[in-house]
Amino acid sequence: MTERPGIGHRLDSLRDELVHAEIDALLVSDVLNVRWLTGFTGSLAYAYVSGTEAWIGVDSRYTVQASGECPGWRVERLASSSAENLAELLKGQGIRRLGAEADQLTYAAFCSMRDRLDGAVELVPTNGIIGRLRMIKDDAELNAIRAACRAVDTVATHLMGFLRPGISERDVMIELESTLRSGLGLEIAFPSIVVSGPRTALPHGQPTDRLLQPGDFVTMDYGAKKDGYCSDITRTIVLGAADSEQTRVHSVVLEAQRRAIAGIRNGVAASAVDALAREHIAANGYGDYFGHGLGHSLGLHVHDGGGMAPSSNLTLQTGMVLTVEPGIYVPGWGGVRIEDDIVVTADGCEALTSANRELVEII
Ligand code: ZN
Ligand code: ZN
Repeated sequence: MTERPGIGHRLDSLRDELVHAEIDALLVSDVLNVRWLTGFTGSLAYAYVSGTEAWIGVDSRYTVQASGECPGWRVERLASSSAENLAELLKGQGIRRLGAEADQLTYAAFCSMRDRLDGAVELVPTNGIIGRLRMIKDDAELNAIRAACRAVDTVATHLMGFLRPGISERDVMIELESTLRSGLGLEIAFPSIVVSGPRTALPHGQPTDRLLQPGDFVTMDYGAKKDGYCSDITRTIVLGAADSEQTRVHSVVLEAQRRAIAGIRNGVAASAVDALAREHIAANGYGDYFGHGLGHSLGLHVHDGGGMAPSSNLTLQTGMVLTVEPGIYVPGWGGVRIEDDIVVTADGCEALTSANRELVEII
């Protein structure tokens, strides 16, 4: 794969977008957007970017950290009443139209900022400007995601030797999270899902004290975080020998995933990829039991912007990292989801997770 520009080029990409959005500058308040743009990893900061200026505003807790993490960025120290302080700074920038991230600011914060700017600067709501840029990963981001993917593969293999009747869903969750944290030194990306038996019909069920029983499906959906970047994997196994319905449902989901992955490449509509999986599931009689989208973008956040669903208007592009996670959930009986992470390439995609996808029978 060709080398892609790193963090130093993100500022240039954003400046191009300012022109398209017809704003003089953007005030970035989403902490993950600030991180993507500047490298700052703290919990509260604003980044200001115009055609010629760029600075990061933080309070006294973070000035030293920001100076270290954000080379090339001027650090502005904000007072504790930062909204007022920020407004004064913004009024002094000599701009007319300032974008503010409408999908991040509350309406109250937006109005408060607008009032403080007092007509000197017009506040313009913007949507997803950085989110769209974040969808295309550069090499440093891909390397982090690859490491996070290797970790969840390792955990999947480990769990195959750990699962057995008599332990609880919560035991499985603790084992997988401690393997990730202590064994591999990574953070979990989101609260792990472990469901068993009829509870596998809950796509986002949380682990309980239910004990695993012979004949159960067990679905495990979890992720790792490396340098802030997430992976996300789901495997469904069966305890003991699978019955014919379990085998059939698992094979329908696996084939739906295979068809979707085969359809992914640069320039394809995300909704068309979703349809490849959805039509296969429907053709096998389970159309009513696949309610969620096929997959989501993955990055600094586990749901990192767009995704693949029937209603998606996204076009896949080289460098996007997405999950592919079809499922069938039959209330009262159980369900299967298989989830892998891929990166879109010019003529296809590359799988980033590779743990065994076949139906494992834990005998
Ligand atoms: Zn997942
Ligand atoms: Zn997912």
